[in-house]
Amino acid sequence: MSHQISVMVHTPAHSGIGGALTYESDTAHAPGTLVRVPLGSRELLGVVWDEATPLAKTDESSAAPMQLRAIASVLEGLTPLSAHWRQLVQFAAHYYQRSAGEVALAALPSQLRDLSTEQWARRLKRKPKTAAAFEGAAPTIPTPTDEQAQVLADIAANKGPFLLFGNTGSGKTEVYLRAAQAVLAHNPQAQILVMVPEINLTPQLEERFRARFCPQWGADCLVSMHSSLTPAQRLKNWLAAHSGEARIVLGTRMAVFASMPHLQLIVVDEEHDPSYKQQEGARYSARDLAVYRGQLEGAKVILGSATPSLESWHHSRPATDAEPAGRYMRLAMPSRVGQGALPLVRRVDMNRQPYKTVFSNHLLDAMRERVTRGEQILVLLNRRGYAPVLNCNDCGWKSECPHCSAYRVFHKLDRTLRCHHCGFTQPVPRACPSCGNLDISPLGRGTEQLEEHLAELLADVRRPDGEPIRIARIDADSTRLKGELERQLAEVHAGAVDVLVGTQMIAKGHDFRRVTLVAALNPDGALFSSDFRAPERLFSLLMQAAGRAGRDASMSLVSPCEMWVQSFHPLHPLFEALKQHDYPAFAEQQLKEREQATLPPFSFQALVRAEARSQEAAQAFLNAARDAGAALADELLVDLYSAVPMTIQRVANVERAQMLVESASRVALQRFLAAWQPVMDATRQQAEFKPLMRWAIDVDPLAI
Ligand code: ADP
Ligand code: ZN
Ligand code: ZN
Repeated sequence: MSHQISVMVHTPAHSGIGGALTYESDTAHAPGTLVRVPLGSRELLGVVWDEATPLAKTDESSAAPMQLRAIASVLEGLTPLSAHWRQLVQFAAHYYQRSAGEVALAALPSQLRDLSTEQWARRLKRKPKTAAAFEGAAPTIPTPTDEQAQVLADIAANKGPFLLFGNTGSGKTEVYLRAAQAVLAHNPQAQILVMVPEINLTPQLEERFRARFCPQWGADCLVSMHSSLTPAQRLKNWLAAHSGEARIVLGTRMAVFASMPHLQLIVVDEEHDPSYKQQEGARYSARDLAVYRGQLEGAKVILGSATPSLESWHHSRPATDAEPAGRYMRLAMPSRVGQGALPLVRRVDMNRQPYKTVFSNHLLDAMRERVTRGEQILVLLNRRGYAPVLNCNDCGWKSECPHCSAYRVFHKLDRTLRCHHCGFTQPVPRACPSCGNLDISPLGRGTEQLEEHLAELLADVRRPDGEPIRIARIDADSTRLKGELERQLAEVHAGAVDVLVGTQMIAKGHDFRRVTLVAALNPDGALFSSDFRAPERLFSLLMQAAGRAGRDASMSLVSPCEMWVQSFHPLHPLFEALKQHDYPAFAEQQLKEREQATLPPFSFQALVRAEARSQEAAQAFLNAARDAGAALADELLVDLYSAVPMTIQRVANVERAQMLVESASRVALQRFLAAWQPVMDATRQQAEFKPLMRWAIDVDPLAI
């Protein structure tokens, strides 16, 4: 008997084909089966989405039967994707206003799509290697501290989701390892998903999981999932997770969609990290989807951070007289393991320093003393390149990018002017392109210049072994080549580097053992940014950076570890809270401000972005869409704002505009967006909006 089968395929967003397509098949393939189907003249990978329905024999008397095309083939040898997986995809698509086909297919490894039927058959025949033995000593498993034991007991006894609020060095990773161990001990089939913001930045985490689990569960018990895998590796790891063979999947945000039939525990490490939010296509938050997925599959979810996102902090608020508790359970680990104390925070008032001071003398002296003793130093400056702009001192010409509303950054090493937005790169001009003046000079300072400057300042300083000190720089420029970041990090670990200069990349979860001083230069920009999340990001960056110091409790120190902040606003509450290492105080103050201004998490937002050759065209579309949605928005108590240019208004000759949509109710916002999307599609079809290039909705945007 013939069947009618709905199949989810990836059609371009806004193509009008939102849902599943219908095909005919002799076999009633189960939902979740991967198939190839014809669409136009192409053949696409698709996922059978619902139960097949029998197709009535064409009845002469009925109206003309639908002409259904037949499914081309089935990917043999794969168990169907689970109902939970499909529901996760469906939810994500609905919530983030994309088609389920797009989300589903983006979540599958590309080789499933790209391998021909013959190649796939060959791939399947490949014999699985006999499980590789793991070469490595039995792990030494530390006895949990009291705080760890308490947290683990709470995790065992409650449903969650849990927010593990643990200081840097409090032993959060050890909690993840133990929680995973407990799950596996209970059910040897169980699978665990561990998510990290960026895998390259935290090679130690993978090592710790391997060292803990591979001796017992074999070298193949852990697979990774992230964007730098080759397509073949990605398929291999995906299949290992899908078959249930891999017990632990360690991955970046994309891993939230990993097919894991026996998922029992999800860990989201550094849950506050903005890289959990996808910034193109379906703009999903992997952290939020992890919480949804945990609930869906009955898996426990642990979100961990020393500086949680204000959303998660708010969701984990304890009950008060006026209000019930939030829906997450907050677990705290305030102490560092061992005696490793948190660094003393010292603020330098830059108003009292001579004009153009880069390093105050006090800070320099402290740095000299420490490197002489063989201690390591981190210097944080969130701006790469040599100088953010090149300037003609005569006519005022500046190194603007001709294609963007931004300056091109001066990179001295290769003597280029490089746009950090569109990539446009040119050699540095010998003279001012505008007036011919030879006196053009850098304005401001980036990591490259800082590295050079420090080399001069510390030229006379010697390491304990009498050698000159070594300064290294880690930022997006120094680590462009594959493997370079790992190499540079390894050098710092090995102690070959005395002073490390870098952008936020150096503040992430590295475990540099001998760092005793961290300096943040000029972090003031974020205090007065138009983005209401900037202070939150700055605070967590500085706390993370501070957390790099003093991690080795066994080091005997002449003076305590220090974090230095050079600022023109040293008394700002953010730095006060930093000095006390008091995230709760910072969070409370921020949440109060957000509540007064009804900003998230006290309201819910979506951002519509539009791009066109002219700013007018981009804004006209948004404003027309707003007018078309105004009545419905009114009814649902959703606020639609006017279109405005984005902060960087023009990138690569494309004008960008955005419009904010806001509501006090998530449900109302969701209902509005669902109804509004087709209205926007229709608006876009109008002749007058032809100049529009693209538009997209970002639900729960992170950058405004
Ligand atoms: P976090 O992830 O919170 O920054 P880690 O889990 O990396 O902290 O722990 C910090 C350090 O303390 C690591 O070197 C880790 O091996 C060690 N550690 C963690 N828990 C214990 C424990 N219970 N006993 C001894 N050492 C521990
Ligand atoms: Zn000039
Ligand atoms: Zn540019």
